[in-house]
Amino acid sequence: MKSKTILFLLFYLCFCNGYAQEKFNTYFEHKTLRIDFTLSGNSTFQTAAIEQFREEPTWGGPVKNLIDEFGYGGYYVNVFDKKSNELIYSRGFNTLFEEWLSTDQAKEETQAWTNSITLPYPKQEIVFEILARDKKDMQFHSLLKQTVNPTSIFIDRGKLKENKIISIQKKGDSSEKVDLVFVAEGYTAAEQGKFEADAKRFAESLFTIPPFDKCKDNFNVWGVGLVSEESGTDTSGKGIYKNTALNSGYYTFGVDRYLTTPDIRSIRNAVWNVPCDAVFVLVNAETYGGGGMYNFYAIGTADNERTLHVFVHEFGHSFAGLADEYFSSEVAYNDFYNLKYEPWEPNITTLVNFDVKWKDLLPSNTPIPTPLTEQYKDKAGVFEGGGYIAKGIYRPADHCMMRDYAPFCPACSRAILRMVNYLCDKEY
Ligand SMILES: [Zn+2]
Repeated sequence: MKSKTILFLLFYLCFCNGYAQEKFNTYFEHKTLRIDFTLSGNSTFQTAAIEQFREEPTWGGPVKNLIDEFGYGGYYVNVFDKKSNELIYSRGFNTLFEEWLSTDQAKEETQAWTNSITLPYPKQEIVFEILARDKKDMQFHSLLKQTVNPTSIFIDRGKLKENKIISIQKKGDSSEKVDLVFVAEGYTAAEQGKFEADAKRFAESLFTIPPFDKCKDNFNVWGVGLVSEESGTDTSGKGIYKNTALNSGYYTFGVDRYLTTPDIRSIRNAVWNVPCDAVFVLVNAETYGGGGMYNFYAIGTADNERTLHVFVHEFGHSFAGLADEYFSSEVAYNDFYNLKYEPWEPNITTLVNFDVKWKDLLPSNTPIPTPLTEQYKDKAGVFEGGGYIAKGIYRPADHCMMRDYAPFCPACSRAILRMVNYLCDKEY
């Protein structure tokens, strides 16, 4: 390459970088606007309503990558500058409520669940919009659109409980790093030392697993020493209830190993003063179980023999929007994927629009779909079965962390690295 071309490229890159940063400074402050809202409804409809706005003191997310172009998630938040109507921030996410909508219970009951989103704190009036994806056509539809004045007295600016914050690994400025926060659940005051050791063990193990081993320096890792009254978590199917800070429990939707909490408000309250791109709720229990929802949170137990793999698997869901690649285990969902459309997750396909998935990662002459024969079974392919369904959904490899705790397949690895770049304000 000629030196003039290199100079031009360097100039162009600096210009783009500076421009993106300037945009953040035009519209936002380095603080967080947190919006707690309910989603309510049943299997036939859903609505959204505001619960509260909060101003919180840090912003750990990107300052250049303000518009999310992944298209992942069952929900999206769009933020517009009110004066110019310009889209200035967007992000996709999943919720536990969305999963509940596809259970049998949602055919007979109407419920309301709290959810929470965060965005950089606006300097001027904004219009924010919450959209939900309709599984009937996979398109987003607006649930709620509302103006927010950042100087409003109705935004709560109060401090919350100052929990002990442990810096497990600090590699740089939060806008240029992924800020992963472990939150203690079911650890009493006397067990806080155990939490610290558990969180450090989890962080260390994450960075031994490809592709995370290649990007350890892109992560800041924090621990929040939230204190629970009692040790452990609920096992409602066996009549065991514990008084814990985040109200977690097994038997979500009646499935014994499905460990979650509906109490996202308490999670957000725990991380109010920590820069945060991703939350892992670390539960002081030893029974197998966990859960993870894209850009919402992931959760798992500290002391099961498969704990570290469960952690990385669930983190795959919450961090990179990865789908489950298994198809033979019991789940509580009905029609979780509409086979007439391409699912949004990067690691499964219905072959409706496979070109946008991992086609470029296949060895040449790989048949689509790919037979599970000696010749192909250890390579990247398009193997039938995935997303809880044995027929009509395809996965990128026979084995993967998202199926059976094998190493991540090439499609999952790429999706993880893209998300790391996005959150570190790099090109993705
Ligand atoms: Zn995979």
